[in-house]
Amino acid sequence: MRTLLLAALGAALALPAGRQTPGKPAVNLTQTSVVDADGKRIDVYTLTNAAGMEVRAMTYGAIILSWKVPDRAGRLADIVLGFDDPARYLKGDSPYFGAIVGRYGNRIGAARFTLDGKTYPLAANDGVNHLHGGTRGFDKVMWNGEIVKDSRGPSVAFTRTSPDGEEGYPGALTMRVTYTLTARNELIVDYQATTDKPTVLNLTQHSYFNLAGEGDILDHELRLNADRYTPVDKTLIPTGELATVDGTPFDFRKPTRIGARIGSEHPQMQFGRGYDHNWVLARSGGGLSLAAELYDPRSGRTLTVSTTEPGLQFYSGNFLDGTLTGKGGQVYKHRSGLCLETQRFPDSPNKPNFPTTVLRPGETYRTQTIFAAGRR
Ligand code: BGC
Repeated sequence: MRTLLLAALGAALALPAGRQTPGKPAVNLTQTSVVDADGKRIDVYTLTNAAGMEVRAMTYGAIILSWKVPDRAGRLADIVLGFDDPARYLKGDSPYFGAIVGRYGNRIGAARFTLDGKTYPLAANDGVNHLHGGTRGFDKVMWNGEIVKDSRGPSVAFTRTSPDGEEGYPGALTMRVTYTLTARNELIVDYQATTDKPTVLNLTQHSYFNLAGEGDILDHELRLNADRYTPVDKTLIPTGELATVDGTPFDFRKPTRIGARIGSEHPQMQFGRGYDHNWVLARSGGGLSLAAELYDPRSGRTLTVSTTEPGLQFYSGNFLDGTLTGKGGQVYKHRSGLCLETQRFPDSPNKPNFPTTVLRPGETYRTQTIFAAGRR
């Protein structure tokens, strides 16, 4: 697909963010635009901080295109999977690389739910189930991009109203997803939404991480702040049980090599063909709480995930199969990347014992997830 660089709109915005050295902006934000072969315009925003980190995101799918992070020797690598050309994503075959997923991230069993006595049929786009918002979810639509300046520094806010009935969901849903890069190497994702009719909602960020920037993720060490997980049936719909991780390959309470137990005979691991499950996060209160810590021993890069959400889907890239060629000609093979999707639990609209995903008129959906990159 041919991509034209239109213009470098808006000179670098040098705005104060957090503690700042005089004369040296803590975070910069620039915007450029590209058009795809069909003339569709996509705006791309680049955030950079004084520590050398760079995050790029675009209006299509509110997708995070890249996140460059230094290793222990200071060498930069892009720690998220995707394509070099923003227009390449419009082809529609990306497995949600970097996207905001919704209206309902994750699965809804039998592709239907009942709300206030009315049943809503949805697209069955994952066997008999509904996955990641349907045929054309929020990852495959154009959002509006807007540069925001507040006390935390410059951010990019993506806004969109999902029309009433889109992909079968009731209510016009007005959303705002903001990406902020801080001087402390955090990528803050703020989600906000309101609706004009009762609806269900579960927004998440679907970046595939590989802290080495190449190869597979089996040697990454993961810690999850969770004593329980939600076991699934063979179609990956939760049974409704909150099971202990004790004595299972799901116990990541201590940092553990991802590859150590991924080949386990545990029936749950057969269903997911590896890790593709939701963990019930151990929370210390209502606010932001530590969910996950990821470490790549070779590069020394680390990633910490904190969230206000009750759950986290750890997906070990089991369905990547070498058919997609991504950045720098890299072929994305089995387990080239992993997702840490902060969220409500899968199939909550059909599971009365799970935390609610219902949003009603007059209420505001507000969640926050912080990805913090580092090295040791
Ligand atoms: C799901 C996987 C699915 C993948 C799509 C993940 O969030 O948990 O089951 O295959 O998204 O790429």
